[in-house]
Amino acid sequence: MSTRRFYITTAIPYVNGDPHLGFALECVQADVLARHRRQRGERVHFLSGTDDNSLKNVEAAEAAGAPIAEFVNAKAERFAALREPLELSYDDFIRTSVDSRHRPGAERLWRACAASGDLYERHYEGLYCNGCEAFLRPSELDAGLCPEHHCEPERIAERNWFFRLSRYEGKLLELIESGRLRIEPDQRRNEVLGFIRGGLEDFSVSRSRERARGWGIPVPEDPSQVVYVWFDALANYVSALDYGTGGERYREWWERSDERVHAIGKGIIRFHAVYWPAILLSAGAPLPTAIFVHDYLTVDGQKLSKSTGRTADPIEIAERHGIDALRWWCLRDVPRTGDADFREELLAARANELADGLGNLVNRTITLLGRFRPQGVGTTKPLSGEAVALHAAIKRTPDEIDNALARFDFRAATGSLWRLVDDANRFVSTTRPWDLAKAERSGDLDAGADLDEALGALLVACRLVSREVRPFLPAAGARIAHALAEGDPQLGRRLFTKAVIRT
Ligand SMILES: [Zn+2]
Repeated sequence: MSTRRFYITTAIPYVNGDPHLGFALECVQADVLARHRRQRGERVHFLSGTDDNSLKNVEAAEAAGAPIAEFVNAKAERFAALREPLELSYDDFIRTSVDSRHRPGAERLWRACAASGDLYERHYEGLYCNGCEAFLRPSELDAGLCPEHHCEPERIAERNWFFRLSRYEGKLLELIESGRLRIEPDQRRNEVLGFIRGGLEDFSVSRSRERARGWGIPVPEDPSQVVYVWFDALANYVSALDYGTGGERYREWWERSDERVHAIGKGIIRFHAVYWPAILLSAGAPLPTAIFVHDYLTVDGQKLSKSTGRTADPIEIAERHGIDALRWWCLRDVPRTGDADFREELLAARANELADGLGNLVNRTITLLGRFRPQGVGTTKPLSGEAVALHAAIKRTPDEIDNALARFDFRAATGSLWRLVDDANRFVSTTRPWDLAKAERSGDLDAGADLDEALGALLVACRLVSREVRPFLPAAGARIAHALAEGDPQLGRRLFTKAVIRT
């Protein structure tokens, strides 16, 4: 029996500030994919981590008056601490400055590119945005400013190592156009294709040790230079798999995985969809199979950013409203493209949707079963009427979720689950089990059979929902399964809490 392997990663964020809601979104999305595939019987490896070696971290430490390593450690802890409160299920977490797996991996990748003749030295002058950690073309600037960070780039002139990106233009176009390297959604794919068709220039993959303040990985055989932060950071996806020591995990999870998926934000698409595949081509390694790109979150219309201090602390939000509400909002409200605006009342609406829709469905099912069929549901006659439609919806839902998640469409996936919850709730109102029970008590045997059918269908619907909701709301799914197994109305009433909005 061959079991499919699925490797999924989040991006590794800079640790120049505290984690913000945008990164929580990415973690939750990747987590849903990982949990869903595990549930479907695939073997999954899910990686997250932090990018410790960025110059931005160095600058933030200097601004805080703290030693770099101490500052980076403290901030990285905050990112690692998202795991429990956000109910994340990653299998591994890599920190690029302290993890002993990382440096050998980045060095091996460098040497592999050098062996392909793709690294060369050159004097370079250009406009560097520290926020992007990248040189920008003059044509990319918006009135002289970086369009992403709204700051003036710095003019840098130094001797650097360059990567021969220009060599891979045709190959990258072919891979993306053919779909062998999927970029989702389409709008992002078109953006990448447009960028490549505009012509690829070689890019700098090192900086002087002085400019890096001695922080980062020295260039193999040239310690006067430090490996460019993006080359270093991208290597984490394979260094965490012991690529540096030619480990078995690299073969298992990178070379032999059926899918290698990176979840990222739109601001770093070029590094992942252009630079990274080119580096891998040069190194003779397989490429990711898909890059899934999310847009940004805003809070009351303002961009979230670690640098501006506008973070909307995900842990605080989860503590205040519960993780169900936060995860459900991320998955149900955030569109595939276009920024989503986070507002507390939207989160509260999603918390109430769970309580009124899903909580109510399970609660009334347990109560009806306890009241009218405490010994269990009897064998039913062939399905009829409303039950036929509900069973069809039950049967359809898992496939719909599979198809939506294969497209990275979380709204469609949760929407499909929710249609079933709505159908089941409507089924209770139309079949009116309490009236059937009354008729049964007055001797109507057909009503008794209808009652078995109705309660049986509801139980099947609730069990399916408790299983299918688990990748999205892991703890809530477990609570529902437990309440159903116990048949305890007390547990049924306490599945979700309604939101209280602070004004
Ligand atoms: Zn920038």
